[in-house]
Amino acid sequence: MSWSDDRVALLKRLWGEGKTAAEIAKQLGEGVTRNAVIGKAHRLKLSSRLSPIQQNVKTNKKVKSDNPAATPPRRVVSKEPIFKGKEIKMEDLRDKMCRWPHGDPQNDDFTFCGCDSMEGLPYCETHARLAYQVTSRARELNAKDFVADAGAPVDLEIKTAVS
Ligand SMILES: [Zn+2]
Repeated sequence: MSWSDDRVALLKRLWGEGKTAAEIAKQLGEGVTRNAVIGKAHRLKLSSRLSPIQQNVKTNKKVKSDNPAATPPRRVVSKEPIFKGKEIKMEDLRDKMCRWPHGDPQNDDFTFCGCDSMEGLPYCETHARLAYQVTSRARELNAKDFVADAGAPVDLEIKTAVS
């Protein structure tokens, strides 16, 4: 039995289609054995073909490793939405209510947060955190003004912390 170009081409085609060596041997006929097919495939450097099982493993791995790339890490939105709290009017503001102001004091829709304030602070947890972040002097003065307007003593601790 000789490996004519036609037979080699057939071998390559069937091998490429994923046929087993036994099936290819049967197709080639002329007493070609499975081992002869495998040996020829090796010489033709066709032996790198993966078995279906190996292919599956490879596919699974690929899917796994591709996933992180397919879903890029979410960008953290640093800008928090403005927390308005309960939007309490000045006349309804009581002790232990957050005095974080919203809006323009000249306007009717000017409100205070009104959530439960933290111990020793004129603000609720959310706004206390904001107060500590305030770097703009104008904002700082505003906040102090509002505290004074609401009739509460200006908290020395806050002043120290903000300045
Ligand atoms: Zn608040």
